[in-house]
Amino acid sequence: MEGKSNEVLKCVILGAGPAGYTAAIYAARANLEPVIYTGPEPGGQLTTTTDVENYPGYPEGVQGPQMMEDFRKQAERFGTKVVYEVIEKVDFTGPVHKLWTTSGKEIQAHAVIIATGASAKWLGLPSEERLKNKGVSACAVCDGFFFRGKEMAVVGGGDSACEEALYLSKISPKVHMLVRRDEMRASKIMQQRVFNTPNIEVHWNTVVDEILGDDQVEGVRVLNRQTGEKTVLPVHAVFIAIGHTPNTAPFKGWIDMDEQGYIVTKGKSTHTNVKGVFAAGDCQDKIYRQAVTAAGSGCMAALDAERYLSEEGII
Ligand code: NDP
Repeated sequence: MEGKSNEVLKCVILGAGPAGYTAAIYAARANLEPVIYTGPEPGGQLTTTTDVENYPGYPEGVQGPQMMEDFRKQAERFGTKVVYEVIEKVDFTGPVHKLWTTSGKEIQAHAVIIATGASAKWLGLPSEERLKNKGVSACAVCDGFFFRGKEMAVVGGGDSACEEALYLSKISPKVHMLVRRDEMRASKIMQQRVFNTPNIEVHWNTVVDEILGDDQVEGVRVLNRQTGEKTVLPVHAVFIAIGHTPNTAPFKGWIDMDEQGYIVTKGKSTHTNVKGVFAAGDCQDKIYRQAVTAAGSGCMAALDAERYLSEEGII
């Protein structure tokens, strides 16, 4: 490994979403001189969202990317260092924790806050893989524009799927929403918005059988699970919005996780099973998964880290 540094940082934060940046704001103001390693998606999932209407303090709503820009600026204002690199390996034997970036740099830290979030899930079809970025996407806001004026499909029945369908309905003549059961998981208000949008058609009990096309999406063959009937919908883009997987792979074997890979924290705290390692945000929360709850747990993690460093006599 190259780039080994002898400096032991007080507090390293992994991930730059609402949890990571909020942890940084609190850690920086407590003189922990935090360094954030952003990971592959600086800003996190909110950078793939348009309007955020449920974050307190923005009465008119705010664009997700703008909000994360604001979070970053606020963290930097108090001296947070933001490093645009990905941590791929850790050694939590302790008491000093070691982490390595994908470029081979070793980092040492007394306290580590894991706030690596979660990533979009995919259906796992070969045709989906083949056509990724050629009409198959997990981000309507990022890629919908390329297919404006054309019919599109959204897979899923959660709030994300509703949000994607509503967004696309403004740039597409017809959006097909493919819901695998006879009801949606989404909140009632989001469902109602979908039902009130004339150019969104909800296909119940419907799953993707195959996405058609070689170099671009030329349609999607769907299967009605009740009737067994297969139909081809003439769409030019398919947006997959079926949930998320926590980004916790580098910590496997070190940190206790549940069967889905979400980090387990102790009681009403952000402590993990490893002393000096804390977890906040979506990587440890599969229930609430909101920007505001992620931010709240980021704050908790910084406070827990500060107390830990103080008790250990490091600050
Ligand atoms: P969810 O887990 O809530 O929903 C996933 C959806 O995808 C479900 O309808 C699920 O069906 C379906 N699904 C899962 N796997 C497959 C598959 N292989 N094939 C077809 N369909 C599948 O994920 P979301 O990303 O929608 O939401 C995550 C969290 O974020 C939620 O708490 C949500 O409330 C929140 N959120 C809030 C928003 C807002 O407030 N504006 C916007 C976006 C998200 P089934 O129900 O059958 O399992």
